[in-house]
Amino acid sequence: MSDLYLRIVNTPVGKTAAQSLGLPAPVPLKRLKRTDQPFIEGDVLVGAASGGKAIAAIGSTLSASAATLHHASGNERLKDSSKAGNKARPMDLNSEIDQKFSALVFDATGFKGPDDLRALYDFFHPTIKKLGGNARVLVIGQNPATCRKAPQAAAQQALEGFVRSIGKEIGKKGSTANLLWMAPGAEQQLESSVRFFLSARSAYVSGQVVRIGKSDSAPATNPVAPLTGKVALVTGASRGIGAAIAKTLARDGATVIGLDIPPAMEDLQRVTSAINGKALACDITDEKAPTLIADFIDEHFGGVDLVIHNAGITRDKTLGNMPEHFWDMTIAVNLTAEELIDEELAKRELMKENGRIVCISSISGIAGNFGQTNYSTAKSGVIGYVEAMARQLKKGVTINAVAPGFIETQMTAAMPVTIREAGRRMNSLSQGGQPVDVAETIAWYCSPASSGVNGNVVRVCGQSLIGK
Ligand code: NAD
Repeated sequence: MSDLYLRIVNTPVGKTAAQSLGLPAPVPLKRLKRTDQPFIEGDVLVGAASGGKAIAAIGSTLSASAATLHHASGNERLKDSSKAGNKARPMDLNSEIDQKFSALVFDATGFKGPDDLRALYDFFHPTIKKLGGNARVLVIGQNPATCRKAPQAAAQQALEGFVRSIGKEIGKKGSTANLLWMAPGAEQQLESSVRFFLSARSAYVSGQVVRIGKSDSAPATNPVAPLTGKVALVTGASRGIGAAIAKTLARDGATVIGLDIPPAMEDLQRVTSAINGKALACDITDEKAPTLIADFIDEHFGGVDLVIHNAGITRDKTLGNMPEHFWDMTIAVNLTAEELIDEELAKRELMKENGRIVCISSISGIAGNFGQTNYSTAKSGVIGYVEAMARQLKKGVTINAVAPGFIETQMTAAMPVTIREAGRRMNSLSQGGQPVDVAETIAWYCSPASSGVNGNVVRVCGQSLIGK
């Protein structure tokens, strides 16, 4: 679906009119054009507080990018930044800065207490206004849950407020800010997330906090086709977000089984035949669905690597006016079906080692929504399911969720115009996301290199003002 306002406001007349009327002026987001394009270009400034461990670990990743690297120097509190990689040039933040930065990366893993927070000001105050459009801020800290001392946990938790606020300040230029909280010793698991959050793939992801844990395996992957040899099941793949997920996983090398209800077969076949995938007609709420899906996977592939529970429905009514089948259907499609499918795949040992399960929640599942008690209940349940399963899964299998905000699909096109317009603008980037934004986030979860990313719920919502 097209956002007419976004197009008008980016014409010279529209821009002037929006400015004089005080209306939002969203900037068109730069999304991925080619899979072999460098994950970041332009001038990137890297800073680190004393004792930080992340910059040294990601130095070679940053050095291998197409960016010109600079490391903050001339400041006592930022003295470890020189580990940014061999190519990094020192930059004194106390002198005049000429560059426009495409990214600011800050390693705060060394923060031990509130006094250290001053290093954030020292690094970002002279540089934040030098950030170009569609730029990235990435802060790396230590997960507060793993800090033994309260002052350290306080300083690490403080990063969340900092990053979420920066996101709101830079969003009007189409820029994003995100935080990676790593567990001690998880330095080797940072790479895939650093690449994702600095790249055009995360154009609509802002204000998010990702927990990265230690894992046994984070193999080097081919960044252009990291899913080569993997088999993916995508439910609800005939249109909207599901079709974008199927195409994106296929682009990254996976063989895709697209699933949808029988009436959607024509559309589904169009999607799957374009990507050399297979189409499976199935209503996931049918009691035979888990067996049917497992049989299909077993017969054609002998197992599955990536399971993407995308199929979803809304049946909106205020609770007092809601017929019981609205409640039952919404819980069944959005929540119960995925649990039953996973259970069957696990029972028959069809989920392969280092597999990935991704569920789709929603910002309604985080913040609640008028007229959506059924949908919000189901989508909150998805988060509970993901968090519990993340602690239980074995053999390198991870499970994560995405929580989309306003994404331009047939689901949101069906909204009344005022609600639709409010949904589009009420986020830091002042625009709706595209299905591909959700798909790219899922592709990052699915990468073999994301083995340390487990039990997360990442919102793809342009940092919606709704919810936390
Ligand atoms: P959509 O309605 O365009 O697509 C959903 C797909 O799921 C359809 O192809 C539909 O046929 C399929 N489906 C529905 N019930 C099914 C069943 N019982 N068995 C098999 N397939 C079934 O929706 P979308 O906007 O692409 O949303 C995809 C997912 O993202 C859903 O889980 C939705 O709740 C979630 N989501 C969407 C938005 C948004 O803004 N579009 C926001 C938050 C969350």
